[in-house]
Amino acid sequence: MSVTMDKVVSLAKRRGFVFPGSDIYGGLANTWDYGPYGVELKNNLKKIWWKTFVQDRDDMVGLDASILMNPKVWEASGHVASFTDPLMDCKKCKERIRGDKLIEQHIGIEAAVGKTLKQISEIIKEKKLPCPKCGSSDFSEARSFNLMFKTHQGVVEESSALVYMRPETAQGIFVNFKNVVTTTRMKLPFGIGQIGKAFRNEITPGNFTFRTREFEQMEIEYFFDPEASKWEEIFAEWKKLSWEFVCKTLGIKEENLRLRDHDKDELSHYSKGTTDIEYKFPFGWGELCAAAAYRTNYDLTQHSNFSGEELSYTDPQNPQRKIIPHVMEPSFGADRIALAIMLDAYDEEEVDGDVRTVMRFTPALAPIKVAILPLVKNKEVITQKAEEVYHLLKKEFTCEYDESGTVGKRYRRQDEIGTPFCVTIDFETVEKDNCVTIRDRDAMTQERIKIEELSAVLHKKLGI
Ligand code: ATP
Repeated sequence: MSVTMDKVVSLAKRRGFVFPGSDIYGGLANTWDYGPYGVELKNNLKKIWWKTFVQDRDDMVGLDASILMNPKVWEASGHVASFTDPLMDCKKCKERIRGDKLIEQHIGIEAAVGKTLKQISEIIKEKKLPCPKCGSSDFSEARSFNLMFKTHQGVVEESSALVYMRPETAQGIFVNFKNVVTTTRMKLPFGIGQIGKAFRNEITPGNFTFRTREFEQMEIEYFFDPEASKWEEIFAEWKKLSWEFVCKTLGIKEENLRLRDHDKDELSHYSKGTTDIEYKFPFGWGELCAAAAYRTNYDLTQHSNFSGEELSYTDPQNPQRKIIPHVMEPSFGADRIALAIMLDAYDEEEVDGDVRTVMRFTPALAPIKVAILPLVKNKEVITQKAEEVYHLLKKEFTCEYDESGTVGKRYRRQDEIGTPFCVTIDFETVEKDNCVTIRDRDAMTQERIKIEELSAVLHKKLGI
């Protein structure tokens, strides 16, 4: 079955995963709000990421830096000068496009990377690439467009200071490097992880939550001494860890994933190697996350020069030796990964002549783990028992209690939001054996379990 973006967007809206932003005002283009199930899904993703990469490792600590930072941060990092995309206008319909993306779509990524503005304009002219909106191929010359959102800090706009909304969370980590080293006494190699919002004034946002102007990142800066560790080994290790996280921990199908090494042309001048993990989206392969990017010691050196603060690390074996650590950066987009999780989990199958839509989330990601369903609604003894079971399980799992409609309809509703297990309570539960029926979302098998054993059985089945 091929999954289309339309099917997932429609389910996401219908079942409360993702709503169009500012919906009652007619929306605001390319903004999305996470509904009750969507926020659970995304929070589960962030929790699992944090546990895997920060809490479970002795060589990692966390951070939560501000979105607004001193504007000098962005001069030092190079964002003010070069965090730009090549913007072009269609002279006929006035559509604004990204020149590199137009080349990428029609010719391929190799033809687009590392090209100057002049080269981009020339390729588009020579190949007569069409405007995605009106099909004409008459564009203005490509010019640099800085993607950072600007705002003002202070009371009176004219006299207040210009500040930027951070376009990545990473710089907050570099700026706090010294604070972390002095307060935690972490020894190299060690990393700092952070989850938070980032903002980019993208020229061509779209494809649902794939590319938006406000999004959330989960980033790691892993610092090391290049004389004590080989960067190639640390690079390979993070590539492996990122890959395992995406396909094993999150359960995204391996056949829909691939690693892509950046070409030399594509690398930033300070980077020696970057590998992305790409996902096969309905519109084609697209970057899911950066599995690892080797940024040398460029960022810390820049911040040291611009701030005047010494951002070095003293070798504990040799206190005379001070170094500016090098860094490996795995960078994950929470919204883009949540989208891939939804696309990957979406399935339709025929059951008794009907189409069953089911979101096959891995249990740890599922917004609701267990649904409790009394078989008949109006029998007080049954609803009472069902509520009892609900309150028992609610202490341990995210649960939902549902008594409306036929049990078949209720199963389908839970399938659509990806609930791994439903527990039904019937007459026999109350009158005979104090057992309930557990129904498995994927196999649709049913099994009777004693209420006393329910919690332990569910923990085992869910693997949590
Ligand atoms: P792209 O080439 O798609 O613009 P990028 O290479 O600029 O992405 P990075 O700067 O490496 O992206 O950011 C790390 C991660 O943050 C990406 O892999 C992606 O998951 C996420 N991300 C980046 N830009 C956006 C966006 N506009 N909307 C949603 N997620 C984003």
